[in-house]
Amino acid sequence: MSYKRRKTRVVKVSNIRIGGGNPVSIQGMTKTETKNVSATVKQINQLENIGAEIVRIAVKDIGDARAIKEIKKKTGMPLVADIHFNYQFAIEAIKNGVDKIRLNPGNIYELNQIKEVVACAKEYKIPIRVGVNSGSLRKSSSSLVNSMVKSALDYIKTLERLKFFDIVVSLKASEVQDTISAYEKLAKLCDYPLHLGVTATGPLIPGTIKSTLAIGSLLKEGVGDTIRVSLTSRPEDEIMVSKEILQSLGLRNFSPEIISCPTCGRCQVDLIKIVNLIKNKVDGSPSRNGKSSAKKIAIMGCIVNGPGEAKQADMGIAFTRNLALVFKKGKVIKKTSQKDSIDFILKQLEKG
Ligand code: SF4
Repeated sequence: MSYKRRKTRVVKVSNIRIGGGNPVSIQGMTKTETKNVSATVKQINQLENIGAEIVRIAVKDIGDARAIKEIKKKTGMPLVADIHFNYQFAIEAIKNGVDKIRLNPGNIYELNQIKEVVACAKEYKIPIRVGVNSGSLRKSSSSLVNSMVKSALDYIKTLERLKFFDIVVSLKASEVQDTISAYEKLAKLCDYPLHLGVTATGPLIPGTIKSTLAIGSLLKEGVGDTIRVSLTSRPEDEIMVSKEILQSLGLRNFSPEIISCPTCGRCQVDLIKIVNLIKNKVDGSPSRNGKSSAKKIAIMGCIVNGPGEAKQADMGIAFTRNLALVFKKGKVIKKTSQKDSIDFILKQLEKG
């Protein structure tokens, strides 16, 4: 399935292009103190290994801004400095080699300060994200959504007056519907690429659901060029959820899709364990570097829906009371014991 994407300008963040029909990129954020260079680099590497393409780091003081120089020596990951309150941290981050900065219109708004940041961003040829957040709006108008959109548009106008156009915009609210409405509104009023996200979503499960609903709905409408899922959880979880959102919509393809049933009283195997085993295998490096060619793997608990789903997948197992039927491209290629079927399918997947 492909969606007609909103036409936007292209903004370059190091080697990643945002907007203009480029693949929707995945952003993560470290949760370490940035000036702790070894911990921050370790987390950036973990995020990169799991699939992050751009990583944001918090810059809350001059020490964090200066640490970027050391961090950049140890990673090639495009880095974004998250700046609030003090424009000088933005300038210091840019001079120390960051690839993009995020400014919050709610707390950096003096024209002379914006002018200095823009001059520096122009000199170092890096973009600025106008990162509006419902929790830090400076002025409110008729509604939260209107206030967020107005805040973004006013800031965009200021940047444009300074002849700066390397802009990405985000409008994050903590409510799904506010987030969707704000992005929908802004999408019609400018052609800058949009960074999608919901803010302060909560723990893993509710946060995943809120993020998926908001980000997924917008992407389905063709709105959105880069995404960041924010969760009160491990930073790696945010990347995994991002990948699942993009893959479920058919916008990116990272690893084979697993079709598995929820199990019920008919199931005679530990399907949850088996599915996790196979998922961990295909989510690892072999599938990401393209060795496994199976796009859909069905693992089904019994013969009610098992053979049907397994037939439709590229590879599949349908468990019966004592045996397992292994399918490849719609045909049974092996009838074997439950245990052997798992070893067999793993070997098949390794072969590709
Ligand atoms: S496929 Fe079988 S085991 Fe799985 S949920 Fe359906 S009936 Fe239950």
